Amino acid sequence: DDTATTAGDERTDVERLDKEYVFGTWSYQSEVDPTEIVGGEGVRFQDAHGSEWIDFSGQLMCSNLGHSADGVADAIAEQAREGAYFAPGFATEARAKLGEKLAEVTPGDLSKTFFSTSGTEAVEAAIKIARMYTGKQKIISRYRSYHGATAGSISVTGDPRRLAGEPGIPGTIKAPDPYAYGSTLDPMESLEYIDEMLMLEGDTVAAILVEPIVGSNGILVPPEEYLPRLKEIAHEHDALLICDEVMAGFGRTGEWFGCDVFDVQPDIMTMAKGLSGAYAPLGATIVTPEIADHFEDELFCHGHTYAGHPVACAAGLAAVETYQEENLIEHASEVGSYLGDRLEELAEAHPSVGDTRGVGLFRGIELTRDPDERVPFGTRDDKISKGSTVVDEVAAAASDGGVYVANMINTLIIAPPLTITESDI
Ligand code: PLP
Repeated sequence: DDTATTAGDERTDVERLDKEYVFGTWSYQSEVDPTEIVGGEGVRFQDAHGSEWIDFSGQLMCSNLGHSADGVADAIAEQAREGAYFAPGFATEARAKLGEKLAEVTPGDLSKTFFSTSGTEAVEAAIKIARMYTGKQKIISRYRSYHGATAGSISVTGDPRRLAGEPGIPGTIKAPDPYAYGSTLDPMESLEYIDEMLMLEGDTVAAILVEPIVGSNGILVPPEEYLPRLKEIAHEHDALLICDEVMAGFGRTGEWFGCDVFDVQPDIMTMAKGLSGAYAPLGATIVTPEIADHFEDELFCHGHTYAGHPVACAAGLAAVETYQEENLIEHASEVGSYLGDRLEELAEAHPSVGDTRGVGLFRGIELTRDPDERVPFGTRDDKISKGSTVVDEVAAAASDGGVYVANMINTLIIAPPLTITESDI
């Protein structure tokens, strides 16, 4: 019985084994204390201590299909039985059809996909492609952003998670953010600052890399005209626009992708998380035909053993079909408006709720010590030093009440599975 507890230790056997033998991510190992999960269904999951939780963040903002998408589970099992893995030189139906599907659902003429196994790798590939295509090296990204944990992707990440990896890869430059609630810079002013940066850098910038709607750094939605103008600025300086859709993509915003909210097609787009509905590790980097054509005659010197892994691609294909067949994008838009209205009520009613913001089922609640001065409870430093902030305590209290909600940088992140109903909200 792997859920058994041993007298004198409240941890289950699984929890004790996990604590002893598994490195926890982003943590002081002394503080890692995982809870054993024994099952999940729809937007709920159960732990080994008899509690049921409602998943209000889709785990790491990735379980877009909830915890019982049988079609995806079946596709995984079927592919694993048919043939779990073949080297990239062999074509599989799952990979080919998923490539076609992504060309269909992504904006404009984005059409050729490099597959990988995570958002991090999708971003690494985007950086490499942009550098090879433009022949230039620098990448501009923004401070309030997260793009992954490997050397390149952590170097373009702007939040404090980058600090342990610094100085990182050469040629990365950070720009200010469109953070209307907490920045002294107006979002559109921050954009003109990027224009100025590009001018001062001369013709050395390969790409501007942004999350169209910032995720883990606090759900920052730019003004409507921001992303179209950013693309214009990038192109005026012969730089590419890369949209990192790892968190905002696949229906989270009530549109297929975050950039669809602003009607902008980037030159390169990265995807992961919702791409497989979190049923398999899968990342993707899609490019325009023009960029793809460049590599007809230039060596695309990049790849991983598991690039385009058939089982992961089968999960991705079934997940995208599920979004389509169950009209989950439209559903997310509808229940997302309801969620937005309820959060606005919360902002009016509670003095410690400074701001609620977001689109669709991609929302944030920023807490404040003083709503007039907009003073945060925690600071960025609190998040990288040992010690809890008020927002951690709020999330812990929610956990005690059976609500799982992620938080970062003074903000609770609301991103439930797209299948959630108004009554669950
Ligand atoms: N890009 C964005 C916008 C993300 O939110 C994340 C992860 O949270 C990543 C990239 C990295 O993805 P992964 O954790 O799958 O490597």
